[in-house]
Amino acid sequence: MQTTFTEDQLKDPSVARSNEILRACVHCGFCTATCPTYQVLGDELDSPRGRIYLIKDMLENNRVPDAKTVKHIDRCLSCLACMTTCPSGVHYMHLVDHARAYIDKNYQRPLTDRLLRAVLARILPYPNRFRLALLAAKIASPFKGMMPDPRLKAMLEMVPKQIPPVSCNDDPQSFAPQSPQKKRVALMTGCAQKALNTDINDATIRLLTRLGCEVVVAEGAGCCGALTHHMGREDESHATAAKNIRAWNAEITNKGLDAIVINTSGCGTTVKDYGHMFRNDPLAAEAAQVSQRAMDISELLMQLDLPMGSDKDLTVAYHAACSLQHGQQIKTHPKTLLKRVGFKVVEPADSHLCCGSAGTYNLMQPEISGELKARKVKTLEAKSPDLIAAGNIGCMMQIGSATDLPIVHTVELLDWATGGPQPPALSAESRPYTGVPILR
Ligand code: SF4
Ligand code: SF4
Repeated sequence: MQTTFTEDQLKDPSVARSNEILRACVHCGFCTATCPTYQVLGDELDSPRGRIYLIKDMLENNRVPDAKTVKHIDRCLSCLACMTTCPSGVHYMHLVDHARAYIDKNYQRPLTDRLLRAVLARILPYPNRFRLALLAAKIASPFKGMMPDPRLKAMLEMVPKQIPPVSCNDDPQSFAPQSPQKKRVALMTGCAQKALNTDINDATIRLLTRLGCEVVVAEGAGCCGALTHHMGREDESHATAAKNIRAWNAEITNKGLDAIVINTSGCGTTVKDYGHMFRNDPLAAEAAQVSQRAMDISELLMQLDLPMGSDKDLTVAYHAACSLQHGQQIKTHPKTLLKRVGFKVVEPADSHLCCGSAGTYNLMQPEISGELKARKVKTLEAKSPDLIAAGNIGCMMQIGSATDLPIVHTVELLDWATGGPQPPALSAESRPYTGVPILR
């Protein structure tokens, strides 16, 4: 694609990067076939190619974003299916991230939009605030039908039935290996996940220490910054990311780290991109060190000696989170690991398509998100599994809100199959979602 940025414009490193990306696009349109929003809405402007044209026009002309451009960029899930499909290697993620930051700086959103976005940015990344908000939302949920805005209704509908107590495992500390030490790793305990589901980090720590890892929860590390990054709120996302970079670099300098392990794939995609996000920052070298060490839990487990297991007589429908399969290009590890410990694994049709969760997307775009959720649940249930597994809390909340099947994190099943307790979500009493117990 030809571009017409001036030399002056290209002095801005973000514009220079977007120029490179735009020039790689050959307009072939292959990406439209796998774009969930194009499949739902059928509008070229809601396809990757359409959005690329809108972004090019906005950036080249240095213009104030118009409402139409913002609408179509906002409707993008950042699922990155288009990057998996594109034969020209167009790095759509960096392009849309730049467009979102540009919109945030140059566009005045309607008041309700600004308020909602500000509230989400000030609550979701902070586990204690988020916990309080969940409790308040639980009280308000009987009145969800009276909400004047569908986004407020969507927020109340996503509140889980149970809010778990705080887990002290998420506090800064070090967990000793339970077998001869193989690695020293830092676990990213996250933000929203700590308020929504503490079983995932608990299972991760049990499994990794059993397999010979010292697991460190670093002092000062927290939210990865993805939630605000995807809203275009660059200053906020960089501030939280910088705290992580400093915290993990202190561990690297102090005792060394073989890996920084992430069990929320949406966060993993962002942490792996810190090197790019901070490329022009004084923290560039430290950020690159963090990105080099960042690993999804499934990547690390492939390097450890996970014991083989006998047949569990349970069929697991594996939901591939977009951030794992497209953002990090990890497609087979979770399925390989689940089969290795004895589960039968099935996959839904159109497994490349997003479930509609996508960070705050299900709250800000409830109609498109609802349609994608219904399609995803239908394809998962069509496989008649005993349960569903996924590697991202956002997907678990989204899918779990629309099915009676239990849904757990992949790592909880791997922990259970290798000596850990049964995942609490599989027992009738403690399941966070509705449904029946599945254990035979
Ligand atoms: S990131 Fe997903 S929703 Fe956005 S343009 Fe690409 S495929 Fe479509
Ligand atoms: S598939 Fe790639 S090259 Fe083709 S239109 Fe989409 S982004 Fe451009």
